Amino acid sequence: MSPAGGLPRAIERGTERSCSAIQIFNQSPRMWRAREYTEDDVLAFRQAMAASPIRAVLIHTVYLLNCASDDAEIRSKSLASLVHSLRAGDRIGARGVVLHAGSAKSGDVSSAIARCGETVREALARSERCSLHLENTAGAGGTLGRSVDELAQLLDAAGAGKRLGICLDSCHLFASGYDIRRPAGMDAALAQIGTKIGLERVRSLHLNDALVALGSNRDRHANIGHGELGERGCASFLSAPALQGLPCVLETPGVKRSGASREEVELAKHLHKRGLAARKRAKSASAARRGGARRGGASG
Ligand SMILES: [Zn+2]
Repeated sequence: MSPAGGLPRAIERGTERSCSAIQIFNQSPRMWRAREYTEDDVLAFRQAMAASPIRAVLIHTVYLLNCASDDAEIRSKSLASLVHSLRAGDRIGARGVVLHAGSAKSGDVSSAIARCGETVREALARSERCSLHLENTAGAGGTLGRSVDELAQLLDAAGAGKRLGICLDSCHLFASGYDIRRPAGMDAALAQIGTKIGLERVRSLHLNDALVALGSNRDRHANIGHGELGERGCASFLSAPALQGLPCVLETPGVKRSGASREEVELAKHLHKRGLAARKRAKSASAARRGGARRGGASG
């Protein structure tokens, strides 16, 4: 949600779209120059939020950041911007700052992971509380965070402290090769995350349909129900037991490329319910099958 016209406007825009969680950029997404909020801005935001149905705010860092860059100037600008976002998060009470870990470009991946880890550690040291969520990526170019293993390495490099978590993006999961279109596939991806990272690290969700094919390593979001995931795939993502209760936001282009509409948010809520119901039915059907097998065994 855009905070244009003042921070509380993001809350208003989210409320109009029937959101219970929103994501904002705390500065213009394609500019380095950071905006400092005044005490009045922060107070007005907190009051607007308290009076609204919105329960969670995520801050997305700007796209220019590359915390893993081998260019010292870019890394120091990225650090400054990340610190700025985390401090803004501290002030407005954000649930977390969402970060794309960065890119190794054409260079060595493990040294890029180490550089990213160092930048993130420093940013956490220079801010107080706000949680930092590394987002899984589609894996385009040298982007870091394309697999559960890589996310685990990034978290370790960043010190694996309590403030570190991950943000799972449905489109990026699919584009990086995780077939989450059915609950079994989604559960398999989460089982990997559980083993290698810990499910308690999953702190926020991005629901986006995918314009691109499974494993294509391209990052193109589609409107919910209009991509390769489809309504069923989105429902499968949203209904995973391990993800219930997490803030989830849409980053879809929208019908007029103006972002998610109220209708799309409502569709997402509906798919969430549909997915939960489908899982419940599948569970009781398999319990009935097991019961039938037991009874069959006893009488035979
Ligand atoms: Zn995302």
